[in-house]
Amino acid sequence: MKELYESDFDCMIIGAHPDDAELCCGGTIAKLSKENKKVVIVDLTRGEMGTRGTEEIRELEAKAASEILGVKDRINLGMRDGFIRTNEENLYKVVSVIRKFRPKIILMHPSFERHPDHENTHILVRDALFKIGLKKFVTNDENGNPQDVYRTRNIYCYMQAYQFPKSADFFVDISDVHDIKMEAIRAFSSQVYVPGQYENEAYTSLSTPEFMEELVARDRYYGGINGVKYAEGFLSVEPVFVRSLSQFL
Ligand SMILES: [Zn+2]
Repeated sequence: MKELYESDFDCMIIGAHPDDAELCCGGTIAKLSKENKKVVIVDLTRGEMGTRGTEEIRELEAKAASEILGVKDRINLGMRDGFIRTNEENLYKVVSVIRKFRPKIILMHPSFERHPDHENTHILVRDALFKIGLKKFVTNDENGNPQDVYRTRNIYCYMQAYQFPKSADFFVDISDVHDIKMEAIRAFSSQVYVPGQYENEAYTSLSTPEFMEELVARDRYYGGINGVKYAEGFLSVEPVFVRSLSQFL
């Protein structure tokens, strides 16, 4: 049996739809992979409700983006796009996948977001993060064996459509991997603007050249206020804690 805080993977990024992880923290993911950290992305739905593309196309896009970012694994929990809810079935899925990978760090949607699925994912994952440590909330692995309980305090929210209501709690320098982030985002060519791709599909707020410019501008702005070229910001669910100030040295 594993110790309560014993981790296996370094980081898990949870998003409602394939492309959320890349759009919100693709640089941070690329940087962790570059440092040989074990990263897994968990998509809750296949994005089948999306105006553009199909679930089959989005699955291929997610696979290509995962390879560009160098993540070790990517899981799709197959929830119904547009109807993410906190119920027993979905809690079981999220608790089970967290207990399987035991990630030291978890990145997820913030609580206040434009897309209802994003807010509902935040609520669902917060609930699951409580239940992963409860031994009476029993989940089984693929072989039918009970999974060990788990806890982590490293739970952070990435930024998406809305700015955070206060400053981010910390920023990650993604200057050296920003081109990898943008390449991973362009892998989702059914969703975002890529010249010559899916040009006859319906217009969405993500499918314009301006949206791509906004992504770069935000990263550049957060880089600028931190004295680097590009950065991504995060909010911490738990208090930000260091064992010694020497971690800043
Ligand atoms: Zn989304």
